[in-house]
Amino acid sequence: MGTCGYFFTIHRLHFVFYYRKEEENNFQFLKHQKNMDICVIAFDADDTLWVNEPYYQETEQKFCLLLEDYLPHHTISQELFATEMKNLALYGYGVKSFMLSMLETALRISDKTLNIEILEKIIQYGKDLINKEIEILDGVEIVLKELSGKYKLVVATKGDLLDQERKLRNSGIEHYFHHIEIMSDKQESDYQKLIKHLDIRPEQFMMIGNSIKSDVLPVLALGSFGVHVPFHTTWAHEQIENKVEHPNFKHINKITEILSFLNQ
Ligand SMILES: [Mg+2]
Repeated sequence: MGTCGYFFTIHRLHFVFYYRKEEENNFQFLKHQKNMDICVIAFDADDTLWVNEPYYQETEQKFCLLLEDYLPHHTISQELFATEMKNLALYGYGVKSFMLSMLETALRISDKTLNIEILEKIIQYGKDLINKEIEILDGVEIVLKELSGKYKLVVATKGDLLDQERKLRNSGIEHYFHHIEIMSDKQESDYQKLIKHLDIRPEQFMMIGNSIKSDVLPVLALGSFGVHVPFHTTWAHEQIENKVEHPNFKHINKITEILSFLNQ
């Protein structure tokens, strides 16, 4: 018997675990007999539950347009990305960090000659980004509804605390979740803390998200299950080149595919 708490029965599923090997443009299905004991399923939020990255990219485009007298668009984008990476350890992830990085980049590339009105516009772009309407991705509600009685559902997201709390509140899907974890980062140690907090073993934890780097690799390393559901746009910081091959890894094309996978 696992330690999933009073509310949940243990789902001891014995099924064939498939994962996809994409070499030779041909899917080769490999079978792994697994005794799965998952009782907590965690979802990444941005670009897994709702749209996020396109809004950031849209804001970045407006930012480049605003500063096009100084540098070409792609160079401004590179400068902004470099500032964001430099600031990550100081500010963490999220919208306020992005705003500060835009301001810093603007000051640098204009050699501090910027008009105050441009700085005001950048701040407004950030506020517009914060106030964007939440757009829940296709299939998300179906999945949450179906799984909520059977598993403990958790949101595990990076980003600005207040911003992510607000998004969740406005999303209309908050009630499906038993626990919201807003993490400063998504390294192995961060997931370890979460798993400990949930009072479960790593093999009882499954994470679903659009980032291989943040949502999949650290949890696989801990012995948990990692499910990748790609979104059409990924922030450069989250992109990785290598393919994942691991018996606890599952790639799905649409979030609803997780239902048949868990029911096998
Ligand atoms: Mg994400």
